[in-house]
Amino acid sequence: MPADSARPRLAVWKLASCDGCQLTVLDCQDELLALAGEMDIAHFTEATSAELPGPGPFDVSLVEGSVSTPADAARIKQIRADSRTLVTIGACATAGGIQALRNFGDVAEFASTVYARPDYIAALATSTPVSSHVPVDFELPGCPIDKHELIGLLSALLAGREPRIPGHSVCEQCKLRGTACVMVARGTPCLGPVTQAGCGAICPAFGRGCYGCFGPMTAPNVGALVPWLGRLGMPDSDIRRVFATFNVAAFDRLAGGSAAAAARPEPGRRHPGSGA
Ligand code: SF4
Ligand code: SF4
Repeated sequence: MPADSARPRLAVWKLASCDGCQLTVLDCQDELLALAGEMDIAHFTEATSAELPGPGPFDVSLVEGSVSTPADAARIKQIRADSRTLVTIGACATAGGIQALRNFGDVAEFASTVYARPDYIAALATSTPVSSHVPVDFELPGCPIDKHELIGLLSALLAGREPRIPGHSVCEQCKLRGTACVMVARGTPCLGPVTQAGCGAICPAFGRGCYGCFGPMTAPNVGALVPWLGRLGMPDSDIRRVFATFNVAAFDRLAGGSAAAAARPEPGRRHPGSGA
């Protein structure tokens, strides 16, 4: 990299998201300045309205957000076509995000409840990760992503080597930083044993359980963890809910549909705000 110019071109794109992962890119501050010395930032509307000439190609595209509208679905195909390396950043882009709760509800009902003119709303019935639509080269999980993981990935791409994205659990990061296990030492429920490392085990370091914002690790044993959460006093309804957050679609596949069950309104009860 780059293939045919002196400096590689970086683009940062947004689909359906809260912008938090793009803010993590900006939070790199000093590193971002160094990066700007090595790469041309050709498109990054969260940071600047200035655009370098030409639509593409881009050596690296960072994509935040899930595919939630027909326009997103068309845009991501164009972004893929214009990008040599496509990296998805954050739980929205890698797993569908918190907005994937809609996958287990009725989008038409939500739209008619919230909007005076639901016919103006163009939304897909599901919120899906970018990888469901186009090939993705690398995925950085997290809500939001970790800046050190991002800098490590971009540095590796600049150096022409394979980025190293961990597939192991948050538990390993607790051991590495010397944090006592919150489940064993405090009896605090924690999703660390099934959650992908990368955040530095921030939550256990501050005495609270991991709630899975980095999504499932490689080959997580959710079936072994769930009974432990019950033994620590979590009722079944809370266990289902804890899997029904930022990575609901990814955890649901592993938890046998129980995350989806938590995302659905209880029988005879409508979602809050439905006016019933
Ligand atoms: S992953 Fe989290 S922080 Fe990043 S855009 Fe989605 S909601 Fe925001
Ligand atoms: S410990 Fe878990 S919930 Fe906390 S930041 Fe890390 S992955 Fe996210």
